[in-house]
Amino acid sequence: MESLESELQRARDLSVSVLADAIESIGFECTRCGACCKAETCGGGEDGESGNSETDPHTATIFPDEIRTIQESGDYDFRDVARPMPYGLTEGDNGPEGETFEWALQTDDCGDCTFYEETTTDEGVQGACTVHEDRPLVCQTYPFSVALGGTSQPMGEAVDSAGPAVSGTEGTDEDESADSDGLVRAHECEGLGRDISRAEAEQLADALKERAIRELEEAIAVRDGYEPVETSPGEVVVHDSEGTKRPDGTPMNR
Ligand code: SF4
Repeated sequence: MESLESELQRARDLSVSVLADAIESIGFECTRCGACCKAETCGGGEDGESGNSETDPHTATIFPDEIRTIQESGDYDFRDVARPMPYGLTEGDNGPEGETFEWALQTDDCGDCTFYEETTTDEGVQGACTVHEDRPLVCQTYPFSVALGGTSQPMGEAVDSAGPAVSGTEGTDEDESADSDGLVRAHECEGLGRDISRAEAEQLADALKERAIRELEEAIAVRDGYEPVETSPGEVVVHDSEGTKRPDGTPMNR
């Protein structure tokens, strides 16, 4: 497996034009269905006994500087914007506990992203992001991801892919080959397959490249700065690229 540093170099060498070609060939237009901003189910599925829903809360990675940008945009507290990513935490007697390595966008009581709002019109329900201008890279680039090691796949496994095959010099200007296991992965979304303009594909590709670079830079910084923490029952700590923090984002000095 490639080192994170090699993958970072590959991310920096990605050609925006090649990524845009792949996005164009898959096709995408946001239908504002809100599926990528909501919990898997809320008020819909039945659990059999009580009639309540089983909810799989929305989990989307947000970087530390992206949290600050949203905080400043609306005078939000840290916890209004982000929560510790639940992956890696265990359920103790006093709730989740342990160490985690990312922040996730904060969720509401339904498990939807806290910044998601729905309005009902004659045409049906339309979703909207209340922090659209400042939404994190993972939101700007959904439903796409780049198939490099150390980067994330939002909303589960890919349902499609396009672009150069994932080996050797893929994604650089030197490699124009196409392959079904391509460099650009597409994840579940009802807007896939719709026409996209070249300008929009390039804008998406640019953000996709930036996200891949940022994810790898973050992963390297977390790895290099990691010092294990003995957590107390009910305690959660988050190791991010800036150090070890409490769930409210304040640094821990132990
Ligand atoms: S920040 Fe906006 S785009 Fe991202 S998940 Fe929340 S509502 Fe959706």
